[in-house]
Amino acid sequence: MTAPSNPPSGAGADALADGVLAGQRRALARAITLVESTRADHQQAAGEMLARLLPHAGKSVRVGISGVPGVGKSTFIEALGLHLIAKGHKVAVLAVDPSSSLSGGSILGDKTRMERLSVSPQAFIRPSPAAGSLGGVAAHTRESVLICEAAGFDVVIVETVGVGQSEIAVAGMTDVFVLLQLPNAGDDLQAIKKGIVELADLIVYNKVDLDPEAAELAMGQMRNSLGMLRSAHAAWRPPVLGVSALRGEGMETFWQTVERYVAVMTEGVRQQAAVAGGALAEKRRRQALDWMWTLIEDGLKARFRADPAVAAALPALAAEVEAGRAAPTAAANALLQLFRGA
Ligand code: GDP
Repeated sequence: MTAPSNPPSGAGADALADGVLAGQRRALARAITLVESTRADHQQAAGEMLARLLPHAGKSVRVGISGVPGVGKSTFIEALGLHLIAKGHKVAVLAVDPSSSLSGGSILGDKTRMERLSVSPQAFIRPSPAAGSLGGVAAHTRESVLICEAAGFDVVIVETVGVGQSEIAVAGMTDVFVLLQLPNAGDDLQAIKKGIVELADLIVYNKVDLDPEAAELAMGQMRNSLGMLRSAHAAWRPPVLGVSALRGEGMETFWQTVERYVAVMTEGVRQQAAVAGGALAEKRRRQALDWMWTLIEDGLKARFRADPAVAAALPALAAEVEAGRAAPTAAANALLQLFRGA
């Protein structure tokens, strides 16, 4: 990747934050490299930088996009991005792809993808961090969303490949979660079985140019299936749209639907005066709290495993549990009592 490998530490974090706020692309790229670094001094600097950026973040529409490989995610994001830039938006594209550490490549890693979008000064495209657990990759991407917002991007797209857990992570960091589907018979059932449809705020059938009739049929089936599922929000039933990313068709309808979602989720609940800022603000508050707890749980687990007394006793106790000679409850209690939490 083009990302510079030397993020700053200490006082450099302030200068970096200033660069991000001034919209400097190099500062933006370095800021993301900083949050992705696992070095303790970098983490410290990243925390200071994020604290400075946070008051300037939050002003974008965060769009999650998922779908199986080959559905047309990058074609769609490029077409949408170019459409939005023509309307005056600034578009950042990030990715969550925990599989990249296994396969060696990453989504967005291939330079030929989104060729036209990537050369636009109004766009910023960043591949998925190459290493780490899903939790780690997702945490970095969440922070990268905030950094892009502070740099003035008013649309942030987070892409993920359709492999299960990563969709949940992306739905948990975006305002509107979009499932891209292929107009093939039976594909709706696959997606429903995997539970991804329930996460979706919007379902988009791509490649409708190939066989418009088959696409209509697949979309009708999906609408029927959706009718039987419970919607996540009473005020919003996920619409089903058809597009041709390759031809750039359907992008305006798509974006209008996203804007309608944001309007419904901001105004609909406010009218009932139920939640300050509407359902969308509530969604973001819940996402931020969930994120905090995920980090606490990850941190506690790492400290637990690193605790000398726990580390000394764990292998033998785990073997006892595996062999059925110790009850999991008793073993867990014994290990928790050994944990000093330092
Ligand atoms: P991704 O793996 O989900 O990112 O999919 P890509 O964007 O790389 O697209 C996979 C293939 O589908 C490419 O050959 C694209 O040109 C093609 N494709 C994408 N969108 C469309 C479309 O709307 N219509 C047609 N006919 N082909 C498309």
